[in-house]
Amino acid sequence: MTKTDTRDIQATVNQIKELEDCGCEIVRVAVPDKEAANAISAIAKSISLPLVADIHFDHRLALAALQAGADGLRLNPGNIHDKEQIAKIAAAARERGIPIRIGVNAGSLPPDFEPHAPVVSRMVDMVQEQIRLLESLDFSLIKVSLKAFDVPTTIQAYQVVADKIAYPLHLGITEAGLPRTGAVRSAVGIGILLYQGIGDTIRVSLSAHPCEEVFVAYEILKSLGLRQRGPTLVSCPSCGRAEVDVISLAESVSKHLEAVTKPIRVAVMGCVVNGPGEARDADVGLACGKGKGAIFRKGKVVKTVPGENSLEALMTEIRKEL
Ligand code: SF4
Repeated sequence: MTKTDTRDIQATVNQIKELEDCGCEIVRVAVPDKEAANAISAIAKSISLPLVADIHFDHRLALAALQAGADGLRLNPGNIHDKEQIAKIAAAARERGIPIRIGVNAGSLPPDFEPHAPVVSRMVDMVQEQIRLLESLDFSLIKVSLKAFDVPTTIQAYQVVADKIAYPLHLGITEAGLPRTGAVRSAVGIGILLYQGIGDTIRVSLSAHPCEEVFVAYEILKSLGLRQRGPTLVSCPSCGRAEVDVISLAESVSKHLEAVTKPIRVAVMGCVVNGPGEARDADVGLACGKGKGAIFRKGKVVKTVPGENSLEALMTEIRKEL
């Protein structure tokens, strides 16, 4: 999701282009007012990613976003629940073949909706109620999300709903926090669900630049073998056998690999005794010895260089793979 003011068309377009460059495949913008909804028209013409309009409270903003060319809508049933208003949105979306995501958030469930029920059943019941409403309006281009800050609540809500409905599920842990903790929370929640075969799209929410969110999303997908993009760095944790500063070296290699988008597995290991064998799955690797660096491929040493040249020698081998 962009973090610019959607009414600032240039800033929003620039951020979406950054997101596209870092691998984002679908982008959502906040639509807090009519001016933001109208801005979608110019934004959509300047980008190539599908653009989803995030709508709360006012159904007229959904209609304006559709009119302006949004490729998708996210509606929060916690704050748009008038049937006639939803009917107008569904009619306009159906006419254009635009999908609607029913985006339930645990934090914005209406207080009078099943107030005594557990939060998971309230979330699931709200989704099902909205699905029934949209289906009764002859609308079936539906996606669903049920996000919560609490990871077990989110996992349970998706597991329950996945057994009840056949619509695509968009996964996320909402308001996950700063990058370090938020990445872990998102990886646990989204990762468990994806591993169970639940989920069709994902969004990582972090208090950070949105490219950080895309980076974490890819790491989740890569670690489950669901997508490959860019390098995977295998680096040893270091131990008493390490003969160089493995942490600094791994950080330098990671920095050098930032612009690489081709999937490649690169290892940085702290000793020649165990390094190549421990990282035998890596395409290319460096194992450091006393004043020397051994370059290896698939666990076999192919070249030995003086220690001070080892980073450059590793990069030369990597470039051969790209
Ligand atoms: S590769 Fe060597 S230095 Fe790194 S953790 Fe293994 S044994 Fe220790």
